[in-house]
Amino acid sequence: MRLILLGAPGAGKGTQAKNIVSKFKIAHISTGDILRDEVRNSSGLGIKANQYMKEGKLVPDELIIEIIRNMLVKGGGKSGFLMDGFPRTMVQAEKFDEMLAGLGQSIDRVINISVDSERLIKRLTSRRVCSSCNNICSISNNEEDKEGCPSCGGSLYKRKDDREEVIKHRLKVYEQQTKPLIDYYKKSGLLFEVDGSGTETAVTERILSIL
Ligand code: ADP
Ligand code: ZN
Repeated sequence: MRLILLGAPGAGKGTQAKNIVSKFKIAHISTGDILRDEVRNSSGLGIKANQYMKEGKLVPDELIIEIIRNMLVKGGGKSGFLMDGFPRTMVQAEKFDEMLAGLGQSIDRVINISVDSERLIKRLTSRRVCSSCNNICSISNNEEDKEGCPSCGGSLYKRKDDREEVIKHRLKVYEQQTKPLIDYYKKSGLLFEVDGSGTETAVTERILSIL
């Protein structure tokens, strides 16, 4: 199964992606996670990408397409994948179709998780990420977290781009550059809409019911 998960920052792509891939035993490809690893390792790619990421801008298409191309060439996602955070621009979507066609593969379904913008901002400002297992969780009332990651006990951190000014910019970038992909996939008949409000489990069930 080859899936793409679309949705604004904070729509819950990362959390839902984990639930879906564990059910179907397919690869979880998160370009955001890949880039954050590169930044942490101070690789050439990481240093370049960080300049854009910390301001909430998109990393240039060429860099992202190269990451995905390398992954596909190495046979990653051969037995199915779920793309989380890619494609994010029309150029990326068209290139991705081309690359897959070259390998005799195609996308089965595109799931768009929609959440209203007030809720998105709330989720992003209270979001924390585990530094050891990348688990995503939320803290209540801006209280700093003392317990650590609920699944592994690792320390939680706030992403640099989860600050209010940067969040606003990311949402604008989403509206301008990523939202057009909804129409693109609608035209090819691949798009399924899912309401992203409610609990994590409720949303997972909605997604599973269309797969
Ligand atoms: P979110 O969806 O919560 O904004 P991600 O973890 O998917 O977060 O992405 C974080 C950042 O990484 C983005 O703001 C952008 O700078 C960069 N990034 C991730 N995926 C892409 C992509 N496909 N194209 C361009 N930039 C990307
Ligand atoms: Zn953890």
